[in-house]
Amino acid sequence: MATINGPKCKLCRREGMKLFLKGIRCETAKCGVSKRNYPPGERRWRRGKPSEYGLQLREKQKVRRMYGLMERPFRSYYLRASRTKENTGVAMLLLLERRLDNVLYRACVAASRRQARMLIGHKHVMVNGKRVDRTGFTLSTGDEVTIVGDKALSLARTNAGEVGKARNVPEWLEVELEKGRIVVKQMPNREDIPETIQEQLIVELYGR
Ligand code: SF4
Repeated sequence: MATINGPKCKLCRREGMKLFLKGIRCETAKCGVSKRNYPPGERRWRRGKPSEYGLQLREKQKVRRMYGLMERPFRSYYLRASRTKENTGVAMLLLLERRLDNVLYRACVAASRRQARMLIGHKHVMVNGKRVDRTGFTLSTGDEVTIVGDKALSLARTNAGEVGKARNVPEWLEVELEKGRIVVKQMPNREDIPETIQEQLIVELYGR
């Protein structure tokens, strides 16, 4: 198991921000980024101004790692978004937000997106009454997600108690913890994403 100074925290330090990769620990003072004594985004070993390309690449890597995706699936979200009439960067982020693993994370029933993927992979998650094992399943308004299995439900309740102290469930989701049920009340908005993301840099990178 990775320690607090293990590879995941290293990724956060490299990106200069919290990527929330280690569950409940990320919400505590033990967080590797919270503990450091230099400003976010500053790499002590790097000198000079980063290039435009460097900034774009770094932003893309940061968001890709935050959502826990490899390059190809991450890029596919950009391609899907670029085919919509919406602002490509915003549409891409909102598609990522509607991923099943992200919804479990935002609903605080999973401490991290990684833990959410574990719940889904072990078939503890149903969508509209059907078992779904695709972590990237895209949810829509009215969809109902249910956690099944005593152990998974107990984990979800523990997480909701502990993680729920540090972050709120967004308005677009409704959680009924007793029943292990999450309902997508409405589509998320850009303002619902609490992390600082410059999505335009990612669009510029892929549009090169
Ligand atoms: Fe580590 Fe989580 Fe903090 Fe990142 S946010 S440095 S993974 S504890």
